[in-house]
Amino acid sequence: MKDYPKIKTAIPGPKSQAIVARDEAWTSTCYIKEYPLVVERASGAMVEDVDGNRFLDFMAGIAVASTGHAHPAVVKAIQDAAARFLHICGSDFYYEGMAALAEKLAAIAPGPSKKRVFLSNSGTEAVEGAMKLARHATGRTDFIAFRGSFHGRTYGALSLTSSKVKQHARFGPLLPGVHHVPFGYCYRCDYGKTHPSCGLHCVGVLEKDLFARHVDPQDVAAIFVEPIQGEGGYVVPPQDYLPALRALCDRHGILLVCDEVQSGIGRTGRMFACDHAGVEPDIITVAKGLGSGMPIGAFIAKESISTWGSGAHGSTFGGNPVSCAAALATIDLVERQYLANAKKMGEILMAGARALADEFPVVGDVRGMGLMIGIEFVKDRATREPHPGLVEGLVQGAFRKGLLLLGAGKSALRLAPPLVIDEEDASTALDIIRAELRRLTV
Ligand SMILES: *Cc1c(COP(=O)(O)O)cnc(C)c1O
Repeated sequence: MKDYPKIKTAIPGPKSQAIVARDEAWTSTCYIKEYPLVVERASGAMVEDVDGNRFLDFMAGIAVASTGHAHPAVVKAIQDAAARFLHICGSDFYYEGMAALAEKLAAIAPGPSKKRVFLSNSGTEAVEGAMKLARHATGRTDFIAFRGSFHGRTYGALSLTSSKVKQHARFGPLLPGVHHVPFGYCYRCDYGKTHPSCGLHCVGVLEKDLFARHVDPQDVAAIFVEPIQGEGGYVVPPQDYLPALRALCDRHGILLVCDEVQSGIGRTGRMFACDHAGVEPDIITVAKGLGSGMPIGAFIAKESISTWGSGAHGSTFGGNPVSCAAALATIDLVERQYLANAKKMGEILMAGARALADEFPVVGDVRGMGLMIGIEFVKDRATREPHPGLVEGLVQGAFRKGLLLLGAGKSALRLAPPLVIDEEDASTALDIIRAELRRLTV
């Protein structure tokens, strides 16, 4: 028996309530704050709050704590690096960690082409850099992105983002020349079609409609795609989707950018989600799980498009030496242990989620790869009407029972635990979700 989940006070407890009150008095009003979790310490898949309540973490700090919270090998790497030096600026000077991390990311990225790596502090910065490189390399202005996508919050990335209207409201004008098209979201096909009989209509229309009537493909620098949409609802497109986008890009000299900020670094049971499709993107962006919680992001680009010269792009903090050490330790652990675990635990969780679908008619769709699993809820299986209230009730109720969850998209639950969970954690989570679904629906 594990010593978590273990709830011993009212939730939130008194110490948590006091900190929530201080935070709410002083922090910016834009923060979401899903529920009143106030963390004191965390280890592996366990998070303890300031009142001594222990939770099982199935959201990993938004899919970030890939090797679990405070993995000893990651903490040791951070401590050793911090004791040597904290900063020198990797854009202007050299240190081994930066060279080693770039070398490693280039080596693990899919495909045979030689790669070059830029290190950033976050996902949105990785996307911004990829947008700039795509324009620089192609001499073209425009971008294609997908409905439901999330690429970040800074102006370039925000212009690609299309998951929630409040992320755009009152922030315009955004970057011109960004064209949003429907994603390969088969459960809610914009064209009312069914895969595979659709023949990937949603990709075909780019050529037949967008390029025929609206945008000259010669003006398009890049297509930005999440191989599995994250914030948009953990949406897995069909297997032939990314290869079809790759072929489309190749026909028109458009760069294919896979935003793997959420799906990358082992979460799907392969190092990158696009590995499952056998596609080599021109640029891959990563961040979230890369540093096990330390702020670091990257974009990995084919050397053939690395047209820009010294000073064209840079960052004061990007590739911070302590973050590089965390990332190197993370990739090492993921390669040696957690890729295999993510695959194995993912199969167990998928089977469990499918069993929930058999039991509860409110489960409309179950989808995922490795430990990136979405369960979409509906009011009615026939109409597929979304059921956002149920997801909200489930997330809040599970929190009070000691399970940390997060919604995604309009009406989906995401299962994104640290890659270190074991079978007991998986069955504990499924039991709590089942109990909550009974409470909310039966
Ligand atoms: C979270 C996310 C981003 C933005 O990352 P930040 O570190 O929050 O800036 C970009 N793309 C995807 C796919 C993400 O999930």
